[in-house]
Amino acid sequence: MRRMVLKGNVAFTPTKEKFETHENSYIIVENGKIVDICKDLENSYKDYPLKDFSDKIIIPGFVDLHLHAPQYPNRGLGLDKELIPWLETYTFPEEGKYNDLDYSKKIYSRLINELWRVGTTRAVVFSSIHKESTKLLLDMFIESGLGAYIGKVNMDRNTAEYLMENTRTSIVDTEEILKEYMNKSSLVKPIITPRFAPTCSEELLENLGNLAVDYKIPVQSHLSENRSEVTWVKELFPESKNYASVYNYFNLFGQTKTIMAHCIYNTDEEIELMAQNGVYAAHCPYSNYNLSSGIMPVRKFLNKGVSVGLASDISGGNSLRIPNIIAGTIQASKMTWLNTGEELAPLTFSEGFFLGTKGGGSFFGKVGSFEKGYDFDALIIDDSTLSDIDELTIEERLQRFIYIGDDRHIMERYVQGVKIEEP
Ligand SMILES: [Zn+2]
Repeated sequence: MRRMVLKGNVAFTPTKEKFETHENSYIIVENGKIVDICKDLENSYKDYPLKDFSDKIIIPGFVDLHLHAPQYPNRGLGLDKELIPWLETYTFPEEGKYNDLDYSKKIYSRLINELWRVGTTRAVVFSSIHKESTKLLLDMFIESGLGAYIGKVNMDRNTAEYLMENTRTSIVDTEEILKEYMNKSSLVKPIITPRFAPTCSEELLENLGNLAVDYKIPVQSHLSENRSEVTWVKELFPESKNYASVYNYFNLFGQTKTIMAHCIYNTDEEIELMAQNGVYAAHCPYSNYNLSSGIMPVRKFLNKGVSVGLASDISGGNSLRIPNIIAGTIQASKMTWLNTGEELAPLTFSEGFFLGTKGGGSFFGKVGSFEKGYDFDALIIDDSTLSDIDELTIEERLQRFIYIGDDRHIMERYVQGVKIEEP
C-alpha cells in the first residue's frame, strides 16, 4: 500500500457555501486517497512517511474544464477582436498546423509545463481535427502524471477549407482514438468533441452521439457563446426547439457525462434541461470578456442545480491560471448583479474557490476536495512572501494567494497522491 502523511494548514470547500479549514493538521493518504484529517497523529499512522509543511497551506489542485491546446501559441494575441474575426485571423490558421507532429510536440510540451506550473492538476482539453497529434497529446498527458480528458475536434462544414473534415474520416478517426485510449490510462481519457453544432453536419452529430453512447465516452462542446451564434443555429436546425435541443437530439447532452462551454445566452428551458440531464457548464469569464461575448449568469445556473466548473478557454481566454479565473468569476458575477438587481447575488469567495476545485473536479469523480475517499490532488502553497505585519486567518491568506499570488507560491503538486515533477 502507498501511504503518506502531510502536515500543514488544510483548506478546501466540501460545499460551495463555506471553507473547511484545519490548522496545523495531518492529512492521511492511502493509495492516493484521503483517509483522514486529524489534529493529532494517531499511533496507527506514526510509521507513515511524513512530509512536514507546517506554516504552509494545503489545498486541492485546480481544475480547468475547457481549453484549446492548439491555440496555446496565440495566448494574448488578437484579443481586441470579436469572435469571428479572431477565429479567422488567429485561431483557424494556427489550428491548421497540427498535422506536423514536431510542431505539435513543441507546443504541447509548453502547454503541459504551464498547466503544471499554475497548479492545474486536471484539465478537459480540445485538441485539433488531427488524429495523430491528438494521440500525441494524450500520450504526453499520460507521461506528465496530470489528469485530463482530451478530445479530437470534429468539423465537417462551415469552417476554413484546410480544417474541413470528410464526414466518414472524422467518425473513423474518432473511433480509432476511443478504442486505443479508453482503457489505456486511469487518469487520461478521450472525450467526444464536436467543435459546436454549426461546424458539424447532422450525419456527423448523429454518429458522434452513437459513439458516445456505445463506448460510454463523455462529450464536450460549446453552447450559446454569443448572440449571432444562437441565431445561426436556429437557421441551421430550424426543426430544433433551441440550441441545447440540437445536442440533446443527437445524444450529446448528458446521455454520457457532458460539458458545455460558455452558456451565456441559455434560455431558462435550456438551463433546466442541463440540470435534468446533469450537463456541466464550463464558465470562461476572461474569454467572454475578450471576445465581447457577454457574461454567463452563474448564480442562475447554481440556483437551478446545474453543475458548474471554471475554465481558461485558452486562447480566447488570456490566462491559464485558475486563481485568476476564480477572481474573474467573482468579478463577473458582480457585473451580473449590477445589471439584474438582487435577484442574482454576487458569488462569494468560497463559491468561486469551490467552482475552481470541486465544481469542475466532480466531472472526474471524487476530485477537488479533501473529504474522505477523495483523490489526493493537492497543491502546497508557500505564501510567506505575501504575508505582512497583521496576522491573517487561513481563509484570508488563501484569498490573498488567489487574488495576487502566482506560481512562485506553489511549492509542490500532487495527483492521486503522487508528487508530480516538472514535465
Ligand atoms: Zn472554447
